[in-house]
Amino acid sequence: MGQILITHGKLVTPTGILEADLLVVDGKIAAIGKNQAGPSGTRTLDARGNWVLPGFIDTHVHGGLDADTMHATPAAFDTISRHLARHGVTGWVPTLFACPADALSRVLSAIEEAMRHQGPGARILGAHLESGFIAPKFKGAQPPEALRPMADPALREVIRRHAEVIRIVTLAPELSGAAELIQELVLLGIRVSMGHTDATYEQVMAGAAAGATRVTHLCNAMRPFHHREPGTLGAALVEDALDAEIVADMVHVHPAGIRIAYRCKGADRLMLVSDALMGTGLPPGIHVLDGREIHIGQDVARLPDGTIAGSCITLDRALRNVVTDIGVSIPEAARMAASTPARSLGLTDRGSLEVGMRADLAILDADFRCQGTLVAGVRVFAPE
Ligand SMILES: [Zn+2]
Repeated sequence: MGQILITHGKLVTPTGILEADLLVVDGKIAAIGKNQAGPSGTRTLDARGNWVLPGFIDTHVHGGLDADTMHATPAAFDTISRHLARHGVTGWVPTLFACPADALSRVLSAIEEAMRHQGPGARILGAHLESGFIAPKFKGAQPPEALRPMADPALREVIRRHAEVIRIVTLAPELSGAAELIQELVLLGIRVSMGHTDATYEQVMAGAAAGATRVTHLCNAMRPFHHREPGTLGAALVEDALDAEIVADMVHVHPAGIRIAYRCKGADRLMLVSDALMGTGLPPGIHVLDGREIHIGQDVARLPDGTIAGSCITLDRALRNVVTDIGVSIPEAARMAASTPARSLGLTDRGSLEVGMRADLAILDADFRCQGTLVAGVRVFAPE
């Protein structure tokens, strides 16, 4: 794999920002410090004073550049992986809309295959099922005909059969049979995220007690806060056992909402996700995507009736937003984009710039534009 010495970078490490060199050997960070020198044959990558951050990990992505995870083709996953790598993302969790069991099985098989043949882009880390087990009232852009009871034998069988590839299941904890399903998913090694839900405060707490550890796109598609019934949102904000995703496009959640979430959860419990749709990366305007008319804006995608269908951002942009609009420091933003999502998935070998970690790196300039991305020490994106 060889060695690379990254020089002249502002390294965003867990202990602060260091103007130092970073040595990569065999895909891992081997040393951090001033005036490092690698073994003979070490190549040098001049970071030119740019930020060097841990590569971003996006746990909620539907697509990009006209490719959708539901297309379930090698080309679609490859397109999305390469697109994400252009934005500093080194790992992503393909996220699937609610769908019938046979379609789900087909998509999961395709993800398994894509994981076996990872191309030169962001790594696929497993699947996130924005599943059929959600509340009709908060289904958002999910197809209503795909919503199923939690006992649905066909969906349960597909999940068991593909448990290895499934990282996260989003579900509504107020639905009948939720505690039992959560326990089964946890035993299968799957992270349970509460979302698209009308759950009361108590129902969220019961979900957490059953083993759920995450909340899907905090504030969006969930029972809001009320001071006498704090709802899903109140429980998510106050319960430290829950990590929360947030879409920081500044449209899904008002900047003040993000500030509140950040103050309640902190950078170690709040993670940036894109919830990016297949229109991400396409020019703004009206597009027909998979036969559906979608209005692609600068940062957000909407259905013709104005419903938010998902975002069009990538995590470099989300990181810039929380730094410039919310006042989050760059080291904390790096935790929200890399360390916290890594930990939330149980990945202990990546997500921060420390010796021994995988050399998954994002290089961003002063305007937070990506100037280079490395996955396990291999450069997967360099600007033309
Ligand atoms: Zn989504």
